Amino acid sequence: MESIWKKTVKNILEEQKQLKKEYKADVCIIGGGITGISSAYYLGRAGLKTVILERDKLANRTTGNTTAKITSQHGLFYKYLTENYGKDFAKKYYNANQEAIKNIDQIIKQENIECDFKYQDAYVFTQTAKEVKNIKDEVQAVKSFGGEAEFVEKIEPKLENIQGAIKFPNQAEFNPRKYLKGLANVILENGGEIYEDSRVHVIKKDVNGYRIYTDEGYVMAKYVIIATNYPIINVPGFYFIKMYQETSYAIAVETTEKLFEGMYINAEEPRVSLRTAKYGDKELLIVAGNDHRVGAKIDLKNAYGYLENIAKNMYSDSKVLYKWNTQDSITLDKIPYIRRIFKFNEGCICSNRI
Ligand SMILES: Cc1cc2nc3c(=O)[nH]c(=O)nc-3n(C[C@H](O)[C@H](O)[C@H](O)COP(=O)(O)OP(=O)(O)OC[C@H]3O[C@@H](n4cnc5c(N)ncnc54)[C@H](O)[C@@H]3O)c2cc1C
Repeated sequence: MESIWKKTVKNILEEQKQLKKEYKADVCIIGGGITGISSAYYLGRAGLKTVILERDKLANRTTGNTTAKITSQHGLFYKYLTENYGKDFAKKYYNANQEAIKNIDQIIKQENIECDFKYQDAYVFTQTAKEVKNIKDEVQAVKSFGGEAEFVEKIEPKLENIQGAIKFPNQAEFNPRKYLKGLANVILENGGEIYEDSRVHVIKKDVNGYRIYTDEGYVMAKYVIIATNYPIINVPGFYFIKMYQETSYAIAVETTEKLFEGMYINAEEPRVSLRTAKYGDKELLIVAGNDHRVGAKIDLKNAYGYLENIAKNMYSDSKVLYKWNTQDSITLDKIPYIRRIFKFNEGCICSNRI
């Protein structure tokens, strides 16, 4: 079971190496998913000497198994944000995500990265009449701080009983492993280092900053970024009570029929996320979702079967080429944690995701 992104890019790095000595850098980044690699890219471009320590291979975990939509539309989210955190906060959140889309586009052009990046409109749709009000309220919430959204009655995918959807224009999709391979090359060209199969198990403060230990070596760095999705330092942040893990499933499907434009996710449970993706000279349908909390008893056949039925109902000749599943960390307040890990720990920044 391997994601379409892993099928298209076998290895992110041409030459893989493990940390087996001492190494000195300005910034040590722990975790080589999209958060860690993007951080190393930006800091390297700013002239800092960076090193990434990854316990596995780059972009092999959650990032390598995502649906890879780049969007500021995170389900029906802005009504929740405006009501709980205020309009200004919701606007900042929206603008930061809109800016991220533009930044990725700019990086791709500047670094000449071929990664199937494409602007697409993003939709949250519903197939139940009672959810329409929530979708219309969401449109109002986005418009209230100047965001771009509209209510539409119809969407392109052949799904039954569509009652309406909220559309965010000009969002984007890409192949994350092609993109991150491009970024990793730039990091190395800028003098950065990347070590795989190098699990960090201890971070110690010393007079010049930090010592970050793996099994066979250590890094000395003034700053540390923990980009391990789930923070590897749990105290005093107590993240284990502020986050939970979800498993999601995805399939990539081939059909002879013409696929739709746009990216889609439903408003209700179980979650269904749809997009298309380039795969060699083919265009495949990706159906993802059906999430549940990690640990819930589940029959894998049914978990994938649910997504396969959706694909079959849309395209009767659909043939599943790839299946995969993975875990992601979800915060209790639904907002990513990105902050200094604790105030006494100057220079140590933690992120659970982008
Ligand atoms: C099915 C699915 C679909 C999704 N779809 C989307 C989407 O369409 N758009 C979107 O924006 N987001 C999406 N997400 C969420 C998004 O994929 C993740 O939030 C993001 O990839 C997390 O990236 P990351 O770099 O923070 O974590 P990861 O990709 O998990 O990277 C963390 C890395 O840290 C390493 N690590 C852990 N511990 C150590 C250690 N002790 N030492 C060294 N290394 C360590 C891990 O091996 C891993 O490689 C989706 C998630 C899932 C599960």
